Amino acid sequence: MVRDNLIKVYEELPPEVKLVAVSKFHPCEEIMEAYGAGQRRFGENRPQEFASKVPQLPSDIEWHFIGHLQTNKLKMVLPYASIVESIDSRRLLDAVQKWGSDNGKVIDVLLELHLGAEETKGGFSEQEIEEIIANEYSHVRFRGLMGMATNTDDMAVVEADFERIEAFKKHLDAKFSLPDFTELSIGMSHDWPLAVRHGATIVRIGTAIFGPREY
Ligand SMILES: *Cc1c(COP(=O)(O)O)cnc(C)c1O
Repeated sequence: MVRDNLIKVYEELPPEVKLVAVSKFHPCEEIMEAYGAGQRRFGENRPQEFASKVPQLPSDIEWHFIGHLQTNKLKMVLPYASIVESIDSRRLLDAVQKWGSDNGKVIDVLLELHLGAEETKGGFSEQEIEEIIANEYSHVRFRGLMGMATNTDDMAVVEADFERIEAFKKHLDAKFSLPDFTELSIGMSHDWPLAVRHGATIVRIGTAIFGPREY
């Protein structure tokens, strides 16, 4: 099942777009099904669950951390994640910088742009992101932007969100021309083809690969 779902996604996904298989709430056996089908890039969003899964799974998995990260949980995540896609506050960014400095590592991150109407959702404004990337962080490498579109079935609303982040990415590229700032992580199970049409370089797909999550 997982294998068939993966094949279906890869049939449509342009080869240059990276697929993060979002395995949160799904057991290691299901991750191994995807691994057996060739998938090597996975995403998790809860530090505790992430830290417990990593040692049970093959070491050549490229882990993307995609969830809200509290500063007191960095040590559960940063040693194992190849990228943190969900940097959503300066407090977190400063803590990641300090952890990198203390541990002699440079951490790859995406900055989360607040999209959509939901006030509860995290992320920075455009202006905050411009201020942040104008600065040097010796132990953080900005790799691009992440966004979660408004949670709605109205694809016109979702598309407006994707257009906004796509345009902002282009603006930043023109203004700062950061060589490593290459990624645009947008698109989930229900909207990823639209995200690809708006410049996604990373899509994060859970349900369409692993099925519904039981909370
Ligand atoms: C859970 C999650 C996804 C995947 O969502 P699906 O709708 O299951 O594909 C993508 N991005 C983030 C940040 C998530 O938390």
